[in-house]
Amino acid sequence: MIFLDNAGTTKMFEECVEVHKKYSCEDFFNPSALSVESMNMAKLLNETEKFFLKTLDATQGNVIFTGCATESNNLAIKGSLRSGDWEYVFSEGEHPSVYNVAQKLKLDGAKVHFVPLTSAGVVDLGVLKTVLNEKTRLISIMHVSNETGAINDLVEISKLKDKLAPRAVLHVDGVQGFMKIPFSMRKTSIDLYSFSAHKIHGPKGVAGLYVKNKSALKELFQGGGQQYGVRSGTESVSSIMQFRKCVEILNPAVNHERVSKIKVLFNEIVEKVDGVKVLDFKGSPYIESLIFAGVKGETMLHALNQRGVIVGLGSACSAKKAGNRILEAIGVAQEDIISSVRVSFNAYQTDEEIVEAAKIVAEVYKDIKERVS
Ligand code: PLP
Repeated sequence: MIFLDNAGTTKMFEECVEVHKKYSCEDFFNPSALSVESMNMAKLLNETEKFFLKTLDATQGNVIFTGCATESNNLAIKGSLRSGDWEYVFSEGEHPSVYNVAQKLKLDGAKVHFVPLTSAGVVDLGVLKTVLNEKTRLISIMHVSNETGAINDLVEISKLKDKLAPRAVLHVDGVQGFMKIPFSMRKTSIDLYSFSAHKIHGPKGVAGLYVKNKSALKELFQGGGQQYGVRSGTESVSSIMQFRKCVEILNPAVNHERVSKIKVLFNEIVEKVDGVKVLDFKGSPYIESLIFAGVKGETMLHALNQRGVIVGLGSACSAKKAGNRILEAIGVAQEDIISSVRVSFNAYQTDEEIVEAAKIVAEVYKDIKERVS
């Protein structure tokens, strides 16, 4: 099996299993209890929080560990809501865990702006400028698109926030950027940044939220007051330590280059096939969309699956819904959207595997085309 749906999830590093065992069966203590063993767990969490801050290149702030990035995004947005005459700004390209929260906010009567995407798949900064003002409470714009790989310019967005919406908090869904794209928090004015373990070879069920000013974030639920009262509930030390292990193993600068090469290798083969088009947004090397003219993306997905190649149809959360909101927002033609498939790589795929996958993609497409013509 060749897995090319790594934006959906990734295979967990085997190293995580050992870490899981250590912090579940040996050092399993509750970090909030008073024994020496528990206090050691609390210290370890504290040190791990600093480790994540350093990884993000943040000079201040905290990291709150959550159960998934969907939770991180909900906490960031709902925790920033305030009563009064405020406005909320989102991009049209957001993942459902942001976009659907924004839609609900709008339904509930808040003043919500959706900023369109350019044909390059990034947020339209010209339009963004026109909606930011003194009343803007929150701006939520993703780092890297999970559908197209397009990368938003977070430094430029930070400048616009500082100049035009000084009272706003800036939230970034960093799930597809974290440990994949070189990034420095200190070069931005980001207040909240979400990231998830299972997209970087970690376990499912653990994610993070960087919080610049924790006293400005309201908790979503009440409880024992763990994690500064922002996210009550006993911390999953085992999951958090596995998440940390993944970060220790990965090296974004090296991986970025490696994945860029595999993407070129893959595309060199598939682009030679008549009718195949790569939607290249010059963004993350990890994600791209392929258009198979005349064949439904879903048909390609199932036929490839039978030949042992797993690809995606956009966001796993929306794969069962018709159409593709993001490609539509970019202005991709309907017939291309129907024929689109998302291919997403990881840094550990071998050249041989990628060449083999590309050949299978080419064969399967030619075969289906012949049968339907
Ligand atoms: N944000 C983006 C950009 C994603 O790609 C995903 C997962 O597909 C999420 C948020 C949700 O992450 P999680 O599965 O950890 O809730």
